Amino acid sequence: MYKIVIVGGGAGGLELATELGNKLGRKRKAHITLVDKNRTHLWKPLLHEVAAGSLDDGIDALSYRAHAKNHGFNFKLGALANIDRENKQIQLAQLNDLDGTQILPESEVSYDILVMALGSVSNDFKTKGVAEHCIFLDSPQQAKKFHNRMLNKYLQLGVQETKQVSVAIVGAGATGVELSAELYNSLQQVSSYGFEHIKASDLKVSLVEAGAKILPALPERISASAHQELLKLGVDVRTKTMVIEATQQGLLTKEGELIAADLIVWAAGIKAPDFLKEIAGLETNQVNQLVVKASLQTTLDDAIYAIGDCASCALPDGGFVPPRAQSAHQMASLVAKNIIATIKEKSLVSYKYRDYGSLVSLSNYSTVGSLMGNLMKGSMKIEGRLARMVYISLYRMHQVALHGYFRTALISLVERINRVLRPRLKLH
Ligand SMILES: Cc1cc2nc3c(=O)[nH]c(=O)nc-3n(C[C@H](O)[C@H](O)[C@H](O)COP(=O)(O)OP(=O)(O)OC[C@H]3O[C@@H](n4cnc5c(N)ncnc54)[C@H](O)[C@@H]3O)c2cc1C
Repeated sequence: MYKIVIVGGGAGGLELATELGNKLGRKRKAHITLVDKNRTHLWKPLLHEVAAGSLDDGIDALSYRAHAKNHGFNFKLGALANIDRENKQIQLAQLNDLDGTQILPESEVSYDILVMALGSVSNDFKTKGVAEHCIFLDSPQQAKKFHNRMLNKYLQLGVQETKQVSVAIVGAGATGVELSAELYNSLQQVSSYGFEHIKASDLKVSLVEAGAKILPALPERISASAHQELLKLGVDVRTKTMVIEATQQGLLTKEGELIAADLIVWAAGIKAPDFLKEIAGLETNQVNQLVVKASLQTTLDDAIYAIGDCASCALPDGGFVPPRAQSAHQMASLVAKNIIATIKEKSLVSYKYRDYGSLVSLSNYSTVGSLMGNLMKGSMKIEGRLARMVYISLYRMHQVALHGYFRTALISLVERINRVLRPRLKLH
């Protein structure tokens, strides 16, 4: 029986494990193992909501073990350390408890087909002080760290010297823009939970971007519209501002200005994890992504696929597939087809990226973005309620891929009930 190992249970990897488990694992046509360094899954585009406290990951996270049991695959907790291509084994690092005590020693998992779906981490471009003084929204743990520090700052407001909570966010891509708006929304909520003394002017968010406009990957009219919305909220938007150092006090710019900040979030770009650089002699690019062919197999080893943010897949126009949830979703579907084709000894199909546009949620205030479709030439700008519905439907598509339509409808119902039963904000 084919042994298929998927490393990384994120937007792409978990969808792939679910589909292969349903189609092959349950019928005992293949043995599917998903490996992840965490015990639970939370869809990464929700991390800014965890950071702002509008989403409680304790409620929304999905247990890998429970999901695996229901969908015909196995789950193994562990962090990938290396690949032994000759013996077709992956090596997992020693597993430690929170206090550093060893739970399990290093181990190996054998594969016939390996899928790398490890995602990405923030890229600090080796900027001085960033690793020490900034928070990266790479994982629920980091998002929660930011949330706790934010709540502590609110506690100090008015009690100690603290007159204002200042947050600086570096990088005005979707993550930075969405987080800026979500912070103002959570401030409004927090004042109704015993923090009545807190006013909108007590929060100062500076959004710092080296480029000429925010949301550089989106059309001009959409970034201009998002820019206006952020200014209305009170965000200090600074474009054409290059950060050269992060310090305890804030951000130092190329012009020598200090942008003071109690908390700094670094969201200025991504790279695949450093240990992937030429892992097991595979081809990687400057940001450690594994270079793949149109079939999504790595260029130097047909037994290894890569999908999502950790894959570098060329587009016919000379560009590359962007690191987005929709790319990871599409790649997972294609690799499922190709793995099933391999087992049936049929030929593989090529990946064609379909851009459905991009949407950016400015929390409850607005949603802006562009939709692309076969019916329209180019992109169509959408805003407001319709945009919000399409934005939410992206997450629903991920849920449908994991749970099917019926369970997704039940989950949506539970979310609505929770909105009545639970506080609007995570307060601990
Ligand atoms: C705040 C925020 C907002 C975003 N908003 C959007 C949006 O609106 N639309 C959009 O399209 N995209 C958005 N993105 C980007 C999107 O989240 C990613 O493109 C997408 O999650 C990539 O999917 P993936 O499967 O490649 O990786 P991920 O979803 O990141 O999953 C990677 C998995 O690998 C695991 N892993 C990592 N290292 C190891 C290891 N060594 N061993 C074992 N397991 C490992 C991780 O625990 C994780 O479960 C956003 C990202 C952020 C941070």
